[in-house]
Amino acid sequence: MKTEIKKLLKSIQIKAQKIGRPLRLMELCGTHSQTIAQNGIKSLMPDNIRLVSGPGCPVCVTAQKDIDIMVGLALAGIPVAVYGDAVQVPGNLMSLEEAGRKGAEVYIVYDITEAVKIAQKKPQLVFFGLGFETTTGMTAWAIKQGLMVYSAHKLFPPAMKALLANKKIKVDGFIDPGHVSVIIGVDVYCQFPIPQVVAGFEGKDVLIAIEKLLTQILNKERKVENAYQRLVKKEGNLKAQKLIQEVFKVADADWRGLGKIKKSGLKIRSKYQQQDAEVVHKKLIQKIKKEIKIKPSACQCGLVLQGLVEAKQCPLFGRSCTPDNPQGACMVSVEGSCNVEFRYVQNNK
Ligand code: SF4
Repeated sequence: MKTEIKKLLKSIQIKAQKIGRPLRLMELCGTHSQTIAQNGIKSLMPDNIRLVSGPGCPVCVTAQKDIDIMVGLALAGIPVAVYGDAVQVPGNLMSLEEAGRKGAEVYIVYDITEAVKIAQKKPQLVFFGLGFETTTGMTAWAIKQGLMVYSAHKLFPPAMKALLANKKIKVDGFIDPGHVSVIIGVDVYCQFPIPQVVAGFEGKDVLIAIEKLLTQILNKERKVENAYQRLVKKEGNLKAQKLIQEVFKVADADWRGLGKIKKSGLKIRSKYQQQDAEVVHKKLIQKIKKEIKIKPSACQCGLVLQGLVEAKQCPLFGRSCTPDNPQGACMVSVEGSCNVEFRYVQNNK
């Protein structure tokens, strides 16, 4: 083990011992969950430190209703495009993948420019816009190119506020999301009275963030530190922020697990209403919503996203729910806690 890593682990041990009480540190980005699992970081932690995952996987937090609407549009004969990570998410009726198998035109894209290209031949194509500030800028750009979008985009800070307001969720510090922070910067997190560190995605970055969080807790500090300065600026990416503001307006949004959060979503401004699937297909979407029949499910993804239940505590985990046969969004996305736990932890035992 490299000397620097050894030193960090030693410092974490000493500080955790000095603090003495049990601590829960939450990572807020699905890529951090992967880094932690890939590097076995949980197993390196002192007994009183628990690392828990939060709502950092964009596909996972997308509301079931939005999946159902996209499936409904596809089944009604409208071509749709979706990021590969979201195509298998089960809706109340079916997933977009199943809709494709039933003959609906469902295009899987890995980059929004692919959707823009498809729309040149199929102008009625609807792109499923989902994710946090990280991907919203690209969607805004594509809307300006003429792409029609159903927007389920979300803003991350309101979700942090909702987590802190929920008394059941006990968290002593946040590892703030690196990708999101590249766009929104660091200052925005100062509103939350909890130790926070913006971190990069190497194993060492996460250890640095944990060590810094423990230092703050030990010193009774509650501040935001930027340990990802090689990419994250204090003010974020102003160009991307401007583009997002030009195309989107803030609205309330439904989150899987967290419910409706005020001012946490982004809807398309009326200036671009010809590219807004919710305007263009208003009547059809109203009909789809009316016809949604909630399917009972034992999936605990909503609790997993709040750090209230660990993936492996779900009775379906690894039994009826696997990446090949996902029962919930958290097992579909490569950033979902259940998927990460299955691939890196369970399979390596
Ligand atoms: Fe849902 Fe599957 Fe995760 Fe259980 S293991 S919470 S069923 S996604």
